[in-house]
Amino acid sequence: MAFIDIVLRPPSYGWQDEHGNLVKPRPGQIFAEFFKRLNIVQDRKNWLSLMSWVKVLCMVPFLALFIFKFFNLWLLLAAFVYSMFIMGTHGTIWHHRYCTHGAYKFKNHFWRVFTQNLTVCMIPEEIYVVSHHVHHAKSDRPGDPYNAEAGFLYCFLADVNHQPIAADLSEQQYNRVKSLMRHTGVIANSYQQYLTWGSYQHPARAVLYWLLNWSFWYAVFFLLGGHALACTLFGAAGFWAVGVRTFNYEGHGKGQDKQRPGTDFNQNDKSINQLWPGIVAGEWHNNHHLFPKSARSGFKPYQIDLAWYYIKFLNKLGAISSYHDSKKQFYKQYESPYQEAKQNPEKRTKFTEA
Ligand SMILES: [Zn+2]
Ligand SMILES: [Zn+2]
Repeated sequence: MAFIDIVLRPPSYGWQDEHGNLVKPRPGQIFAEFFKRLNIVQDRKNWLSLMSWVKVLCMVPFLALFIFKFFNLWLLLAAFVYSMFIMGTHGTIWHHRYCTHGAYKFKNHFWRVFTQNLTVCMIPEEIYVVSHHVHHAKSDRPGDPYNAEAGFLYCFLADVNHQPIAADLSEQQYNRVKSLMRHTGVIANSYQQYLTWGSYQHPARAVLYWLLNWSFWYAVFFLLGGHALACTLFGAAGFWAVGVRTFNYEGHGKGQDKQRPGTDFNQNDKSINQLWPGIVAGEWHNNHHLFPKSARSGFKPYQIDLAWYYIKFLNKLGAISSYHDSKKQFYKQYESPYQEAKQNPEKRTKFTEA
């Protein structure tokens, strides 16, 4: 079995049946798996998934205080900008383009830690990174941790049911996980610690980092706007952490073929370019599947990409030393031939046909 086939902890309903078809579990099966895999009394190796949802639950009181105690229209605007644009764009800059795809390099550790901590931390790096490599290797096929064809819930609860790393890797296989994560700066467990905790990160380090990050940001927001602003933005971060779990389903057309000629050039999977995730987070997802290692995904003039503007800005400052940019290649291989074919029907390609 290839590494990519065994690196994630398989759900009890399996990825595929004996004929190689995708298993589409019923909602009851998905929920049963979800609660089983949050139970740390039964298995301490579930700690990371539990921590991730405890973070979300911790945000509920902040959100409630914002809505019922502090609410005004300015704070609503702040919550909207923070949850949509800032948290969203940071997810793209950090978890997606840097930690997973290595689309750019920092000049030194300071700028890496700075970028990692630009927002309130919600999603553990290892949950995102390792499973996202699998997503690219198996998009819309069995084994894809958020295969949209298996439905909304399958994707929405994927961080618990499908994304954690396997607990029974050999030392050699665990070393490959380490090599996927090393550049993120998240400190790795030894193999012995991994066997105990089932994770790349040690729980003590994860909790300490969580406390430091949240304390820092609560203090900053409090100094800027008192408990009102701090509760609002913490609540907004929690709102984002739930909302972002819907993206993997939507970004692959809800499992249906929604690709449009002239917009979605990558036809190897069901990914689509969508206006809203593109605008708020630079997630032009079909473009991204064409050029996963590009630090820019918004290629066309209307495809604004805030994550790319940040990367470019830090590059100008000297904080980012190098990056990949596939825009030229995109035009050469896809957009220009498409436009030419539109002008000249004899040159029609598969991209121009609806
Ligand atoms: Zn995708
Ligand atoms: Zn990706």
